[in-house]
Amino acid sequence: MSDTIHRFIFNEHGIRGEIVKLEDSCQRMLQDHHYPPVLAELLQQCAAVSVLLATTLKFEGQISLQLQTQGILKMMVVQTTNNLGYRGLVRYDKEADFSGKDFKSLCAGGQMSITIAPKKGKRYQGIVPLDGDSLSACIESYFNQSEQLKTRIWLFNDENQVCGLLLQALPDMTSQDDFEHLEYLASTLTKEECLSVDSEILLHRLFHQESIQGLSEEPVGFNCGCSEKKMLDSIRLLPEDEIEEILATKGNISARCEFCLNQFKFTEVDIKSQGQLPGNETRH
Ligand SMILES: [Zn+2]
Repeated sequence: MSDTIHRFIFNEHGIRGEIVKLEDSCQRMLQDHHYPPVLAELLQQCAAVSVLLATTLKFEGQISLQLQTQGILKMMVVQTTNNLGYRGLVRYDKEADFSGKDFKSLCAGGQMSITIAPKKGKRYQGIVPLDGDSLSACIESYFNQSEQLKTRIWLFNDENQVCGLLLQALPDMTSQDDFEHLEYLASTLTKEECLSVDSEILLHRLFHQESIQGLSEEPVGFNCGCSEKKMLDSIRLLPEDEIEEILATKGNISARCEFCLNQFKFTEVDIKSQGQLPGNETRH
């Protein structure tokens, strides 16, 4: 299991924690997109945060993190389901020069929405201004202000992988000092250590003097969720004369999933028959 999330709790302090490590799933998310490196790394960080937050989903549904700016980074989104499958993409100005850009210069003035969407029931959305120096700083200030839950997030990544550590006060946290103590221990973490060492060893190195109760270790993976049926449904929403025109000139209609880049091809029969397509809905 290369991509996993560990959840744990400091029972004596009323503080919970999580460590997420993503490598293969990140590579799959980035595959063939050819994003500028700074965007690829930020997308990895978004994926790590999205998975850290998705573990609190207590129902079938998904959490999505969406960054939007007026600048050359137009939109970045990562969606993670309660089963910890995620997908993500970036829309950006393909003519722009991204060299020398960092989080602040890319995101200043922008905002991020955090949307929790249960399959059944009401959506919840929170808005986070992107005025901090880093993604983790923006998320921390969101939790500290709106949720009143003291939260710290550390993110480390290189071009291949990302590692995230979260500490969050529970409503029964014993004291602010305890949080600061754990925060101090966590802040000794280095990028090199974080990316090269297993989560369990990291936990031991950081908090070996604390009493930690492990809650779970769960696999995390790339999961696009697109399907022939969903793609066909969206093609059927196009104006009829447009569909006719494409079929007349090309003989079929092809469409590509923006997230996983899988290509789907439909004939006139596929588009006009109202019945089910042959085959499995979740092919690929
Ligand atoms: Zn897809």
